[in-house]
Amino acid sequence: MPETLTPLIPELEIRWRTSQMTHRIVRDYKDQAVIVVIVLKGAFIFAADLTRRLAEQGLRLRLDFLRAASYGDSDLSSGKVSLQLDVSLPLVNQKVLLIDDIIDTGLTLSFLAQHLKRKGATEVKTCVLLDKPARRLIDFKPDYIGFSIPDVFVVGYGLDFAEEHRCLSGLAILHKEQNPCHQSQSMSK
Ligand code: 5GP
Ligand code: MG
Repeated sequence: MPETLTPLIPELEIRWRTSQMTHRIVRDYKDQAVIVVIVLKGAFIFAADLTRRLAEQGLRLRLDFLRAASYGDSDLSSGKVSLQLDVSLPLVNQKVLLIDDIIDTGLTLSFLAQHLKRKGATEVKTCVLLDKPARRLIDFKPDYIGFSIPDVFVVGYGLDFAEEHRCLSGLAILHKEQNPCHQSQSMSK
């Protein structure tokens, strides 16, 4: 399938915005211990950069990971989110900061935040690099947002299409030719 990439947000701008987010998060948590839960795979580069900055600024962090998948049409979510990998740290009475790459319909983040609360976290705050507000299906606003973007499909800086493009240093818009055969694939996270 032919694909073209258009640059959207360069690496330097992501770095600058990440350090602004760091200051807000450090101010909000002060000296409280926090468990950072990173959503695989898309958030891995953003979370690696953000957590190192948070630690440099003195936040005491423990890290854990989970993985979710949404099934159905890859452009219009079916609303079914499932957990493919769960956290291993006990969350009872813990404050959790959940980091994902992008919020789109909002279904994934709201499902995961509920899941972590059910595991006993006293507080779950959410942090995303990107927000696509135009496509929200439920009322969910992350506590920390890097950039709001229009309804485009983005890759790079951890985000993929069919497992490609994750290692681009910046974010780009992926233009792909519509292919009706592609409709019922599961979306790679
Ligand atoms: P939501 O449940 O909010 O619709 O889905 C969020 C998930 O869909 C993200 O974690 C990401 O895996 C995927 N996603 C949504 N929009 C994009 C996009 O523009 N590019 C990529 N690569 N993934 C996206
Ligand atoms: Mg994701």
